[in-house]
Amino acid sequence: MRKPIIAGNWKMNNDISETETLINTLLPLVAGAAAEVVFCPTYLGLQKAVEMTKDSNVGIGAQNMHFEKNGAFTGEISGEMLTAIGVKYAIVGHSERRQTFNETDEAVNKKAIKALSLGIIPIVCCGETLAERESGKAKAKVVGQIEAGLKNIDDIGKVVVAYEPIWAIGTGKTASKEEANEACGWVRETIAKMYGQDAADKVRIQYGGSVNPGNVKELMAMDNIDGALVGGASLKPTFSEIVKF
Ligand code: 13P
Repeated sequence: MRKPIIAGNWKMNNDISETETLINTLLPLVAGAAAEVVFCPTYLGLQKAVEMTKDSNVGIGAQNMHFEKNGAFTGEISGEMLTAIGVKYAIVGHSERRQTFNETDEAVNKKAIKALSLGIIPIVCCGETLAERESGKAKAKVVGQIEAGLKNIDDIGKVVVAYEPIWAIGTGKTASKEEANEACGWVRETIAKMYGQDAADKVRIQYGGSVNPGNVKELMAMDNIDGALVGGASLKPTFSEIVKF
């Protein structure tokens, strides 16, 4: 049985004091959730977030990490720096990083491998654009991202994959539960080809893209969907309704 995992990607929102306020609001509300719950604040909020959630059911994740330990990488943060403060997860290859910061499948792969080597659970993102979906290329895009982004992984069962169709992110336009489940199925099928079915059956696959309290239940009921990566709706107290779907 795969334990559901629901993560809030707070993106570039909330300064330190707002981060503190949101955590204080959410912590009592998400207590007792059956799902594994993850908050991903900005880098600046991570240390505070780890301290505040120490004795709770919430784990803290970064929204990105560099694969090198240290060096001349201006503006970057390493996995070692994250583990040093108790960060347990890292989102890797979010479409906003791929599109806006030119993150490649190769970098995604290096980050996923490095995260696992440090005991950080990587949440590896994939997903197609609207043009790719409309031209029948969604499956090829997702399969290609998984093949390249998840090659040479030792412990694939620890990886979390987030399927996030770009056209559904921040648009209010959720993929239908069938579309989402089908694409999460492409992910699992690809991992099965790479690492075997048993390993693929351990990988938790999230759906992301306009998840909210009203649609989470039907998405979570699908056989290939094991969780959600939530943007906008994770910044509100009602995120607790999502994690308690
Ligand atoms: P929204 O939930 O705001 O659509 O964002 C999804 C997302 O990008 C999470 O990583």
